[in-house]
Amino acid sequence: MTVRVYKFGGTSVQDAQHVAKVIGLISICSEPLVVVTSAPSGMTDLLQSLVDDGQRGQVFPAISDRYLSICKTFVHQQSVLKEIEAFIGSELQKLDIGSLEHQRAQVMSLGERLMAPVLAASLNASGINAVSLNACHMIRTDQSYLNARVQFEQTNQLVCQQIEPELKRKRVCVIGGFIAGNKLGEITTLGRNGSDYTASIVGASLKADEVWIWTDVDGLFSADPRYHANAKLITHMSFRESAEAAYFGAKVVHPYTMWPLINSNTALRIKNTMRPQSAGTLISNEPHARGDSLLVTTIDEVAIVTVSGYGLIGVPGVAAKVFASISGCGTNVLLISQSSSEHNISFAIPRKDCSQTVAALNRDLAEWMSEEHRVDRIRVFDHVAIVTVVGENMRGRKGIAGSIFSALGRADINVLVIAQGSSEYSISIVINEADVKLATDAILSATSGGIA
Ligand code: ASP
Ligand code: MG
Repeated sequence: MTVRVYKFGGTSVQDAQHVAKVIGLISICSEPLVVVTSAPSGMTDLLQSLVDDGQRGQVFPAISDRYLSICKTFVHQQSVLKEIEAFIGSELQKLDIGSLEHQRAQVMSLGERLMAPVLAASLNASGINAVSLNACHMIRTDQSYLNARVQFEQTNQLVCQQIEPELKRKRVCVIGGFIAGNKLGEITTLGRNGSDYTASIVGASLKADEVWIWTDVDGLFSADPRYHANAKLITHMSFRESAEAAYFGAKVVHPYTMWPLINSNTALRIKNTMRPQSAGTLISNEPHARGDSLLVTTIDEVAIVTVSGYGLIGVPGVAAKVFASISGCGTNVLLISQSSSEHNISFAIPRKDCSQTVAALNRDLAEWMSEEHRVDRIRVFDHVAIVTVVGENMRGRKGIAGSIFSALGRADINVLVIAQGSSEYSISIVINEADVKLATDAILSATSGGIA
């Protein structure tokens, strides 16, 4: 059985008018279909603020109304409407609002827990045989609540057991994205924007032919089209390129999305719900899908920390000490570069983690700094950004780095740090945040037309 998975993002289910589009798209799919839905846009933020501010009653009617107004547009049978209204009411009443992690997960997952039944009811009322299945009983994770790790073996089994019989009955299966459950039956979540990841987990488990991410943009562009008029839609890409792009800031899909699909050989397609006629971006392992164009992405709000001193030269273990210190304070390192003289190591970290990281380094390297001066400086460059050029065909090609850096030179942009992944899929440069737009435009025009 060839199965298709459609995932609709928050903007695609934001109101009845958009849900009507969604229903239309589902109705013309001729394959057995699983639909993964996000919460309506803004809902998870609202639920998160509920936990943070502890306010309760005031927003409950607004939450309930938002779902009911979608539902009432499609469902006209009073008994069904009453049932849904009662379900929404009881889920809201059951909320145990508090800031403990399990409470947060329970509250923040509500957006999707309500959306799946509402969408299924709207589909049924529109003549499409649909059933809503609870993802908390299907996507199995470990015991952490907010960025839970998926246990693939159990999840695989649960997904197949629960979804396949329904598909055989020719029903469209609707499940909420982002939400999951642990072996104790408690609700967990996959981290913000995790619905894409749910879709890819489900797609991989069912060995779907394609997972389609329906969103509010046409696909992946060579740069963010909101800021760069010369950005082009990329119609084909490989999984590795898109994973690299997602890691380095392309925000169209959640960075984990690609991984489950690589093994199951399931292609991923990004499509615009409001412009389904646009080709979108196809991401797969097929040779024809190899990207010939470059993509320029940005991570902003970054700081560069440079540790230097003669003690770093040829002394094993200093780098280990530096990185042990960084990981000890839970900081995520985005990029590393070591000068070949070994005289200094630079690394990029999120700016918000900068002061705690530098404090930890000063503490952990104190001995080497004060007595032996083996480490003589820890310097910080604030207000920088990482601009990354991604392209699978960069591998083994000469001259790409040259044209990128000449373009930056012509644009009078100072490069602080450079790193090339050994995969050769990407080159990252760290520059002042103020130069990002100019740098991106310069790179785009120097490499326009791709590199194929
Ligand atoms: N609703 C969740 C969020 O906003 C998950 C998602 O939309 O992917 O983070
Ligand atoms: Mg989203």
